[in-house]
Amino acid sequence: MALHEAKDPRLGDAATDLFASPLSEDVLPKHRMPAEPSRPEVVYALIHNELLLDGNAAQNLATFCTTWSDDEVHRLMNECLDKNMIDKDEYPQTAEIESRCVNILADLWNAPSTGDDAPNAMGCSTTGSSEAAMLGGLALKWRWRERRRSEGKSTERPNLVCGPVQICWDKFARYFDVELRQVPLEPGATGLRAHQLKDYVDENTIGVVAILGVTFTCDYEPVAEFAAELDRIQAETGWDVPIHVDAASGGFIAPFLHPDLVWDFRLPRVASINASGHKYGLAPLGVGWAIWRTADLLPEDLVFRVNYLGGDIPTFALNFSRPGGEIIAQYYTFLRLGRGGYRRVQQACADTARYLAEQVAAMGPFTLLYDGNGALPAVSYKLTDPAGAGFSLYDLSDQLRMRGWQVPAYPLPADQQDTVIQRVLIRHGVGRDEIALLAADLRRALHRLTRGTPADADRAGFHH
Ligand SMILES: *Cc1c(COP(=O)(O)O)cnc(C)c1O
Repeated sequence: MALHEAKDPRLGDAATDLFASPLSEDVLPKHRMPAEPSRPEVVYALIHNELLLDGNAAQNLATFCTTWSDDEVHRLMNECLDKNMIDKDEYPQTAEIESRCVNILADLWNAPSTGDDAPNAMGCSTTGSSEAAMLGGLALKWRWRERRRSEGKSTERPNLVCGPVQICWDKFARYFDVELRQVPLEPGATGLRAHQLKDYVDENTIGVVAILGVTFTCDYEPVAEFAAELDRIQAETGWDVPIHVDAASGGFIAPFLHPDLVWDFRLPRVASINASGHKYGLAPLGVGWAIWRTADLLPEDLVFRVNYLGGDIPTFALNFSRPGGEIIAQYYTFLRLGRGGYRRVQQACADTARYLAEQVAAMGPFTLLYDGNGALPAVSYKLTDPAGAGFSLYDLSDQLRMRGWQVPAYPLPADQQDTVIQRVLIRHGVGRDEIALLAADLRRALHRLTRGTPADADRAGFHH
């Protein structure tokens, strides 16, 4: 009789190995819940191993999102597992901490203060920039509609003017029935340009979205120039068009690396700003922020009063229940790093981006489109001669993937779609040495794609 068949009560479950238990001796159920429970450590081990098939987040150079956190963040997230941030009456300290984060961000983005040192701004946490964009867009739509109604004019055809926006704005437009007037990229431009606005803005424009950190090119759009152009348009036509800044990434870069760049509430025309706490905000996944320069820019109609959880708490959100841990972790990173710490973290990323840009430029076949100077810590480049290179950037991505690197290749947005680019994002946790290894792998992949086998490349000294 085999050991596992022995009904020796002293052995009990101890006789079962993680990989020789009923659950692990067969393929995992994929369509139907198993009939019986299993031991937690067995289930954990099986799921843990399955997840190893996912890409390694630290080598994912496609994402803006946080992939590294202090141990203390892991601990706080664990402690907050049971905190529902919507229960503001049950968890008043979590609500208090959310409101401190809103104040900190309003201050960071230079919201006008009431004089007693408290900014007059309003804001809330969200699940990310996408939800924050929906809220920002809704406030714009509501305010435009109120104004049009009070003037006795049609409210049928609202539009929103923007450049190469992230998909969340396409969603906003479709879900909330607004025409998205997406201005095509001019040749060589990395985003919307101020002089293009006059051809797209009209009396039905609820707002202009300016992007601080265009997803595709990593560059900032010139928000102050947009504001000046919209001032001019208002003087000419009377249309008072507000700006919402989608600062998903740049909202946590510009204040630290480009403090003299005027893009935020210093511009009176900027009504609202969103940012992703879980990108360069350095909080773990699941938190974004929406801030309005003053409370009156957020229509009361959009704010619901929740009282069945106790208390009378205003909420503006698409979700109801949502974990509180990300908000706590965001507050932790604010306190942990302070302005000086954020500056050093982001500067290290920017320096590493420039280092990579130099390496890429020296490799030969590439033309840099963005060298990590002046906006997000990132590098983007294209093939100088795509037709004559003998390989595509998609081939290069595949080669890099063999070493675990995830470096996406994709076409630029409308009117520049013939240009395929590759983009590398540098963020907290992606160190200089890691990027030096990536550069070595890039050289090796180029050699393989243009001159022969990996063995040739290794003999040529590309192996590290
Ligand atoms: C990432 C991003 C978004 C979407 O943000 P999530 O936090 O992922 O929802 C929106 N706009 C821009 C410019 C972005 O970079």
